[in-house]
Amino acid sequence: MDRVDCVVIGAGVIGLAVARRLAQAGREVIVLEEAEGIGTITSSRNSEVIHAGIYYRAGSWMARMCVSGRHALYRYCREHGIPHKNCGKLIVATSPKETERLQSIKAHAEANGVLDMQMLSGEAARALEPALACDAALLSPSTGILDSHAYMLALRGDAETAGAAFAFHAPLLRARAADKRIEVDAGGESPMSLECGLLVNAAGLSATTVARNIDGMPLDRIPSAYLAKGNYFSCSAKAPFSRLIYPVPEPGGLGVHLTLDMAGQARFGPDVEWVETIDYAVNPARAERFYPAIRRYWPGLPDGALMPSYSGIRPKIVPPAVAVQDFLIQGPRDHGVDGLINLFGIESPGLTSSLAIADHVGELAGV
Ligand SMILES: Cc1cc2nc3c(=O)[nH]c(=O)nc-3n(C[C@H](O)[C@H](O)[C@H](O)COP(=O)(O)OP(=O)(O)OC[C@H]3O[C@@H](n4cnc5c(N)ncnc54)[C@H](O)[C@@H]3O)c2cc1C
Repeated sequence: MDRVDCVVIGAGVIGLAVARRLAQAGREVIVLEEAEGIGTITSSRNSEVIHAGIYYRAGSWMARMCVSGRHALYRYCREHGIPHKNCGKLIVATSPKETERLQSIKAHAEANGVLDMQMLSGEAARALEPALACDAALLSPSTGILDSHAYMLALRGDAETAGAAFAFHAPLLRARAADKRIEVDAGGESPMSLECGLLVNAAGLSATTVARNIDGMPLDRIPSAYLAKGNYFSCSAKAPFSRLIYPVPEPGGLGVHLTLDMAGQARFGPDVEWVETIDYAVNPARAERFYPAIRRYWPGLPDGALMPSYSGIRPKIVPPAVAVQDFLIQGPRDHGVDGLINLFGIESPGLTSSLAIADHVGELAGV
C-alpha cells in the first residue's frame, strides 16, 4: 500500500484551500475527487459574494472566519490577479419598522468586527443607486464579488506548485483508522489504496456520508445532514444597480436579494427550499414569490423579466426549525480519531472563509 502524509477528500474550494495550505507547509498531499474536475458542486453553485461578516452569531466560527477570511481573500485576489470587485452592498429598509432594525444590524456587525457600516437616508441611498426605493439603507463598503473559478484555479496551481497531486474520478469508498494511521480506499477508474497520517474530509454535501464510511469514527459525533436548496433567477432586463442590494433579513433567510456577477449581470436569490434529494432544476413557479419581494426595493422590475437560472444546495447540519448553524470543524480532540479532520456544514460564507478555514485545519494538523 502506498504511503502519503495527507489525503484531502474533495476538490471544492475548501479542499483546494486546505491542500494548498498543507502542501505549502511542506506536507505531501494527495487530493481525491470523485468528479472530473475541481469545484463542480457547491463551489460553482453560489453567489460568488465576498461577505463582510454582518449577520453571523457573534463569536461563531462563521463570524470569525468570514472576517479574517475576507481580508485574506481580498489580499489573495490582489496578489494573484483574480478578477474581483469591492463593489459594496446596500441593506435596504422599505418601512419604518425595517428602518429601526438597521441600527441593530449595524451594532451586530460591529460586534463581529465589521466596523465600516454606514447608515444612509433614503435620499443618500438613492444618490448611490437612483433606481432604488427605500426609506433608509445600510452601506457595507467591504462586501464584494469575485470570479470563484479563477480563484479555485489559482488555489489548485499553488497546491500543485508546492507538490500536491490530484486524482479525479477517485471517490473515497472506505477508510479505516487504527494506530495513528488511516487506510483509505478510493474507487473509480483506477482504484487505489493509500495509507496516510492525516485525512481531511472536505466532501461538502457528502461529508457526513464520508465520515460514516470511516471505520473508527464514532457515529454519535457525526451530525445529521439536511439539504436547503437555494434557487436563482436571472433578469432579462439590465438591472440598474452597481452594488449588491439586500432587503432587511426576515426570519429564516436573507430575503430575495440582488447580486451581480463580474460581467455586471444581475441575479436574484438564493431563496430557501428544504429538499430531501439533490436536484438542481429550478421550478419557474417560484418566480411568483420573487416579483413582489424585489419590487419593494426595485419597483421598475419589468413583468416577465425573471428567468429560472441555477441552484445550489446548502449542506445543513441543523433541521429547518433551527434557524442558525455554524461551521463544524472536528479534529482528533472532538472525535478521538488520530489524524482525522472533518469539515461539516460548510455553507455560506464558506467561499469567503476558505483561506481562514484552511489556516484552522493547518493549525489542527500542527503545520
Ligand atoms: C446557494 C448558495 C450560495 C452561496 N453563496 C455564497 C457566497 O456568495 N459567498 C460565500 O462565501 N459562500 C457562499 N456559499 C457557500 C459556498 O459555496 C460553500 O461554503 C463552498 O463552496 C463549500 O465548498 P466545499 O469545498 O466544502 O464543498 P463542494 O464545493 O461541494 O466540494 C466538495 C467536493 O467533494 C467531492 N466529493 C464528495 N464526496 C466525495 C467522495 N466520496 N470522494 C471524493 N470526493 C468527494 C465533491 O465532488 C466536491 O467536488 C453559498 C452556498 C450555496 C449553497
